[in-house]
Amino acid sequence: MKVLISADMEGVCGVTAWVQVMPPEYGSASASTVEYERARARLTREVNAAVEGALAAGAEEVIVNEAHNGMRNLVPEDLHPDVRFITGSDKALGMMQGVDEPGVAAVFFVGYHAKAGTPHAPLAHTWTGTVNDVRLNGRSTGEFGINAAIAGHFGIPVTLVTGDDKAVAQVQELLGERVVGVVVKVGYTTFSAIHLHPVRAQAAIRSGAEEAVRRATEAKVWTLPSACRVEIDFDHQARAEACLRIPGVTRAGDRTVAYTADDALVFNALFRAVIGASDVSFGP
Ligand SMILES: [Zn+2]
Repeated sequence: MKVLISADMEGVCGVTAWVQVMPPEYGSASASTVEYERARARLTREVNAAVEGALAAGAEEVIVNEAHNGMRNLVPEDLHPDVRFITGSDKALGMMQGVDEPGVAAVFFVGYHAKAGTPHAPLAHTWTGTVNDVRLNGRSTGEFGINAAIAGHFGIPVTLVTGDDKAVAQVQELLGERVVGVVVKVGYTTFSAIHLHPVRAQAAIRSGAEEAVRRATEAKVWTLPSACRVEIDFDHQARAEACLRIPGVTRAGDRTVAYTADDALVFNALFRAVIGASDVSFGP
């Protein structure tokens, strides 16, 4: 079997501030460079730990998909030499690109964070800072739910999640306790946490990944309900208004839009269109 790692960054050990996960071109460059470079090195080590665990448990190949802002945060030269890796942010399947590669039988979520609005959860958000909630048939979810649905469309289960305690709990609540969870930090607030030492966090990820490969054959695939009603709450009515130009998207509240998705690929395509349209300028 092959494993796809979807590598986000907010859930990495030691991370509790945007400046740590902001590639220089997206933020105030000079201020963020040092902390960002350190955090991306830790991200790369956490991914390598998951790769080592997967290979030790018998995975024949691991593909790593960059899944954080800009999607080129891993340090390629420092990645485990046996991986292939995917970069770039305009991928059709986004954080799940590669899940349709032949032979992929399990997905790992590494460096994941909790959904928007979660208390006591470092850097909790859903896709952008402007989305207040995403609901699937009325059930609130985060990036993990969106991505699990895409994996499920291809018949692939998520078998590992690493990140903060709230992220791990939310993934296990949605997908079941059989998903191996590795907590690398416990959140106090949105911008504070108590962490394992990075070396200990990486060791825990390595053994969690081994367990996750062993459990893969009995893991449950999570699929989107058919004719699923998708509702997206924004922080401002102007964003909802901008989304109404998209065919099939309707207003479901002052700051809320909705659409119906027959499968996860339609869900994903319209979600990405909605996010793009909602990026309105409020002027000077
Ligand atoms: Zn991210």
